[in-house]
Amino acid sequence: MDARLVTASGQVGLPRQDPMVVIVGGGIAGVSAARHLINRGVQQVLILEAKDRLGGRIHTVTGDSGNVDFGAQYIHGQDENPLYQLALQHDLIVSPSSKLKDTNKSITAELYGNEFRTDNGDLVPKNTVRDVNEVLEEAYEKCNCCLDNASTNKSIGHHFETRFEDYLQSCDDSENDVITKRGVFDWRIRWELHDNSCLSLFDATNGSYQNNSGDYFIDVRGGFQSIFHSLLNDIPPECVRTGTPVSRIHWRGEENSGRSRKCTVETKHGGNVNCYYVIVTVPLGVLQTNINTLFCPTLPQSKKEALCRRGFGSVVKIFLTWTEPFWESSFEGIQFVWTCSADKSKDRLPKNTLTKKNGDPWWRDIDGFHVLKENPRTLLGWMGGEGARLTEDLSEEEILHTCHLLLQQFAPHLKIPKPQAIKRTQWLSDEYTKGAFSYISTYNEPGDTEEMVKPLPSEEDPTLLFAGEAMSHHHFSTTHGAYETGIQAANIILQNEAKKNRT
Ligand SMILES: Cc1cc2nc3c(=O)[nH]c(=O)nc-3n(C[C@H](O)[C@H](O)[C@H](O)COP(=O)(O)OP(=O)(O)OC[C@H]3O[C@@H](n4cnc5c(N)ncnc54)[C@H](O)[C@@H]3O)c2cc1C
Repeated sequence: MDARLVTASGQVGLPRQDPMVVIVGGGIAGVSAARHLINRGVQQVLILEAKDRLGGRIHTVTGDSGNVDFGAQYIHGQDENPLYQLALQHDLIVSPSSKLKDTNKSITAELYGNEFRTDNGDLVPKNTVRDVNEVLEEAYEKCNCCLDNASTNKSIGHHFETRFEDYLQSCDDSENDVITKRGVFDWRIRWELHDNSCLSLFDATNGSYQNNSGDYFIDVRGGFQSIFHSLLNDIPPECVRTGTPVSRIHWRGEENSGRSRKCTVETKHGGNVNCYYVIVTVPLGVLQTNINTLFCPTLPQSKKEALCRRGFGSVVKIFLTWTEPFWESSFEGIQFVWTCSADKSKDRLPKNTLTKKNGDPWWRDIDGFHVLKENPRTLLGWMGGEGARLTEDLSEEEILHTCHLLLQQFAPHLKIPKPQAIKRTQWLSDEYTKGAFSYISTYNEPGDTEEMVKPLPSEEDPTLLFAGEAMSHHHFSTTHGAYETGIQAANIILQNEAKKNRT
């Protein structure tokens, strides 16, 4: 592991001198807040990170065949994306091409280079894939238009189904074409489940998310950790404690009567740190799980409700590695289009396994597998929805075996050997993450994000601040959103200090 990721693990105990700011969580939001403060002269900053490594949901794992990113993998968008700028500065963009200049195109269009194949092994015509997806892109836009209208169904699921059925009505397709189009629709649902990290598209809205224009899938040289390292370079090792979970934050001065400092942060393994400000950057899943124990006094009811209404789901990545690629250099990947047309006598997929509420097996939620630019022998499969939850309880051997059978079924012409190795993610079971990333749920109310991010006890007297991807108005779920919220929290502290110095 890179030494910069374990900067302070060798240092035992907490610092003797009280810091001005304690940052809970050493992901990109925590590190961007610390860096912003340090670069503006506030040196007394301490990041307390529960795990033995920094990075949080940025976690690049290096194996024999190259890097794989367990969490964030792509820079999403170029325009006004600070991480894209940072990656450019450090020469971290993998194979920049004319494609990068192509703005405002459909997000899933990036995947059209993949083969879309049915469970019978048939290739789905490219124009069928494109037509169905373009219709659904339009439906996606509609979710934005009805956000403030409480009586309208805002869910992506509702808009997708309505628009798709209208579209089918308007086409004069054969029965087989309708079956294939329904298969592509079902693929897009699975893709959206992982892209939104939600359990059902009927619970998710597009919300206030705003795409940064430009390429949506920009690979990073050396994995996403390279971007994180470039931020970490500005942070002195003494400003970080890894392996230090925070158990309770006393955020009101009057609760600490007799102490000169306003806040006290208790750590799980013993030891308190006093400080003037606390920036909490733990993932929303961790906040929701510990909402009644992490803060003393407890958070205001309105903030708790806003935090708990927000969605935080699960995504699983499955990396399969072969001793050598079984695919040609032009192959980009294979996406699974279920038409249930497969010859039943040849169906060897395991049925006696964990099933979803509707009786379908877990593997039905895998979108497909695609190649990785920086790892020539590995294919990556994505899964969201209920399947993602179920998979975390399965053995690697069962997942590998099933994925091999799936690939053989959808690409019988390729004669695919058994993968040599598997790696898979388990973000939901991770007690310091509790899921993948946040989404705006249909239960959310206008103003929830403002409520979630509002400093306490008040904006005029900020002591407890909140940052992290879920706190971003327009870029939640992304690394650049998390990065921006860290800077926003740091700026509130800088402004408050400037105000105090003036008076
Ligand atoms: C599978 C997956 C794929 C993704 N793909 C992309 C992508 O391609 N592009 C993109 O932009 N984004 C992607 N994301 C989202 C992105 O990874 C996150 O939005 C971002 O990294 C979140 O940063 P953060 O600092 O808000 O939270 P985190 O990175 O989760 O940092 C929070 C930190 O708090 C620590 N912590 C938790 N509890 C405690 C405690 N009690 N005490 C102390 N520390 C604690 C955690 O260990 C963690 O290190 C992906 C995420 C996942 C899971």
